[in-house]
Amino acid sequence: MSGRTVIVGAGQAGARTAAALGRLDDAAEIILLGEEQDLPYERPPLSKEVLNGGSPSKATIFARTWYEEHRIALRVGMHVIGFDWRAKQISLAHGESLAYDDLVLATGVRPRPLVVPGATLDGVLTLRTIGDSTNLSARLTAGANVVVIGGGFLGLEIAATAIARHCAVTVLESSSKLLPRIFGGFLGQYLADLHRTHQVDIRTGVTVAALEGHTFVEAVRLGDGTLLAADVVVVAIGAVANDELARTAGAECADGVLVDAQARTSLPSVYAVGDVARQRTHLLGQSVRVESWENAELQAQIAANTIAGIAPAAAAAPWFWTDQYNRNIQMLGRRRADDVVVMRGDVTAPSWCAFFVADSTILGAVLMNAGRERRHVKRLIDTQQRIDCVELVDVGQPLSSLAHH
Ligand SMILES: Cc1cc2nc3c(=O)[nH]c(=O)nc-3n(C[C@H](O)[C@H](O)[C@H](O)COP(=O)(O)OP(=O)(O)OC[C@H]3O[C@@H](n4cnc5c(N)ncnc54)[C@H](O)[C@@H]3O)c2cc1C
Repeated sequence: MSGRTVIVGAGQAGARTAAALGRLDDAAEIILLGEEQDLPYERPPLSKEVLNGGSPSKATIFARTWYEEHRIALRVGMHVIGFDWRAKQISLAHGESLAYDDLVLATGVRPRPLVVPGATLDGVLTLRTIGDSTNLSARLTAGANVVVIGGGFLGLEIAATAIARHCAVTVLESSSKLLPRIFGGFLGQYLADLHRTHQVDIRTGVTVAALEGHTFVEAVRLGDGTLLAADVVVVAIGAVANDELARTAGAECADGVLVDAQARTSLPSVYAVGDVARQRTHLLGQSVRVESWENAELQAQIAANTIAGIAPAAAAAPWFWTDQYNRNIQMLGRRRADDVVVMRGDVTAPSWCAFFVADSTILGAVLMNAGRERRHVKRLIDTQQRIDCVELVDVGQPLSSLAHH
């Protein structure tokens, strides 16, 4: 190939695509454009260490010199406003046009806005960027009333960090349970109990009618009229794909840019990776958009391989983690309607593993403070080898020995 690849969006997936492409083709010309001013960074620390007062610099993926050394032209503060796939040109907000041979869209997502009266009051925040994290962190003062709207992973991580900062925290969730779609609701009750043990007021099945205050938010009014005092409100109700560039250019989109297993969009020489990409699956009419660190890494490599003309690696079990209080929770693979839950260890202990098993193979797993087992469990899932459940539950038998059978 060795043409010019322009990557729009200098977040995790964009930076990783540039790095992977550079490794595969040392003659490739790579231009990485991002609208944020920061060097590309990873977002997971923003709701954890950085929100707890840690330095945002730890989230930086590569130092500036790394891009120069690897001949990647990184241009931050660059907002791309459109592209023309027939002319193979992109347009930047300041009037410049750039030609490309291959174009990678890595524009991520933005927080889903809360549409109720008062949603634009001061003190109503979202969390996506370093600036969002340091801004929220500054407001997490001891004794502050923090109301988190949305009981997904992001909302729960924010709640745990706010508790570490001695705030009084309420989490509002519209579903009747937390995380109803994660492993068929397997983790929801566990996490609700964990948060309640740490004095978080978790309220499920509630709606928000309005946010109240003059300039600053002072209270959250629920659908049933209840008024909750609030010094800061964090809206964490999901995300919307930044797919406008692709949609305007004529690519097929549906809350995300539709891609195939090789990261190709419906337009020639245009690819999409990371949170913005929605991959068609082999199931008719189905597609998935995954917002995770691992997905950004994998899709970046896939797009680079496709552009460089190399076959993609075999699909592996998806992996996601969250850190809340002293729990590191890792989730691998998926569930199926006919699986059974096989516990290794006691769910009331600080550390355990839960396996979702069908036909004597492991489809998915939850590892509670057991991250060191991840690679063994991943191998068991990826290779779909048959396992003996008696051995699986025997904590005296290392998982590494099962994975090698
Ligand atoms: C607070 C937080 C905590 C998280 N924690 C975890 C976790 O514990 N585990 C996990 O697996 N995942 C976690 N994630 C998810 C993970 O961070 C994302 O999946 C990952 O960042 C996706 O990378 P991306 O490059 O697709 O998107 P992003 O990192 O969002 O990058 C997209 C970039 O494109 C830029 N952009 C958009 N439009 C344009 C344009 N028109 N012109 C130029 N630039 C543009 C954006 O400004 C942004 O910088 C977390 C996410 C957040 C926000």
